[in-house]
Amino acid sequence: MVKNVKNLNSRIWLSAPHMSGNEQEFINEAFETNWVAPMGPNIDGFEKDLENYLNHDSNVVALSTGTAAIHLALILLKIGKGDDVICQTKTFVASVNPVTYVGANPIFVDSEKETWNMCPDLLEEAIKDRMLIGKKPKAIIAINLYGMPYNVTRIQEISSRYSIPVIEDSAEALGSKYLDRPCGTFGDVSVLSFNGNKIITTSGGGALISKEKSIKNKALFLATQAKNDGMAYSHSFVGYNYRMSNVLAGIGRGQMKVLEKRIASRRSNYNYYFQTLNENENIDFLQEPEGYFSNRWLTCILLKKQNMRDDILTLLVESNIEARPSWKPMHQQELYKNFPAYLNGTADDLFNRGLCLPSGSNLSEVDLLRITTLIKSYFE
Ligand SMILES: *Cc1c(COP(=O)(O)O)cnc(C)c1O
Repeated sequence: MVKNVKNLNSRIWLSAPHMSGNEQEFINEAFETNWVAPMGPNIDGFEKDLENYLNHDSNVVALSTGTAAIHLALILLKIGKGDDVICQTKTFVASVNPVTYVGANPIFVDSEKETWNMCPDLLEEAIKDRMLIGKKPKAIIAINLYGMPYNVTRIQEISSRYSIPVIEDSAEALGSKYLDRPCGTFGDVSVLSFNGNKIITTSGGGALISKEKSIKNKALFLATQAKNDGMAYSHSFVGYNYRMSNVLAGIGRGQMKVLEKRIASRRSNYNYYFQTLNENENIDFLQEPEGYFSNRWLTCILLKKQNMRDDILTLLVESNIEARPSWKPMHQQELYKNFPAYLNGTADDLFNRGLCLPSGSNLSEVDLLRITTLIKSYFE
């Protein structure tokens, strides 16, 4: 009873870390064996766990962040100064910043309504349009936003027809599937994140996934300062210090043991919101098209009008509940507004009317009731 009373006003986070208890064992092992370094058995073990989970010839390199993984993906695909890279405009800025790191230019493409991810028709239009001025894009960054897979069949078809590789940003979509195949296995290079807010976390971390062992080896080389073989510190390429710590990989190994549970909880949050709010004509949900399976990393609702979204956001925040507008599109950012953008209005509309609700796997039924009761009260 006392606990419930406290819960009535305690902070509800958007997407808090959720430890299982298994993590400490792997961390202790790292300390006891003194593998407190960016190498060691937890890193190897975490990579193996991910490779087994993803299957489909996945070769995984554990890295310091998802952003670092996208940066290395671009370098591995030989994207450099002056190149053009197509990127979904509706995303978190970390998807695009690495394009700038390598001196390339982002070209933004809007979303489709069915998945909120890259619109295949507009993607093709953008490619054709850029080719007319002799600037064929060198890569496509496609994103599985909020855990919903992009239209893999059509994006892959366009990618192979024009011979433009895909970087799959699956930072939000570990555990999601398209036609029964896991997200993180669709890109020429794919990327995961284990940041504190993601479905499983190592506090900070990421991974790069490729189908070829040779790409994994190159990524490892670049992630560890690109040191040539031999004892001497000899270098022929610019490298990075992007490897994951063995201590943090221990958290990852513990988290992998409960990944299925975490997916089930996030999906159950979505179902709770859907069952409680969907009958309201002012609220819409992103539903799974046939063949799509979302990990429901975040549940994001669409309000009928922007002022409703703004009011409900304020109401939640004032009640100590963390909620957020959905990602502000890149073409609207001060940082990126001067780059070419192929738009259809979807990303702008989702930004204006979208509201991300608390979606952590550690939310209680009391939390969910508190959130949905507040939202309902707005319409009464
Ligand atoms: C979190 C996130 C990233 C970046 O991952 P970090 O591990 O935080 O660097 C990239 N893209 C998307 C879509 C993300 O949500």
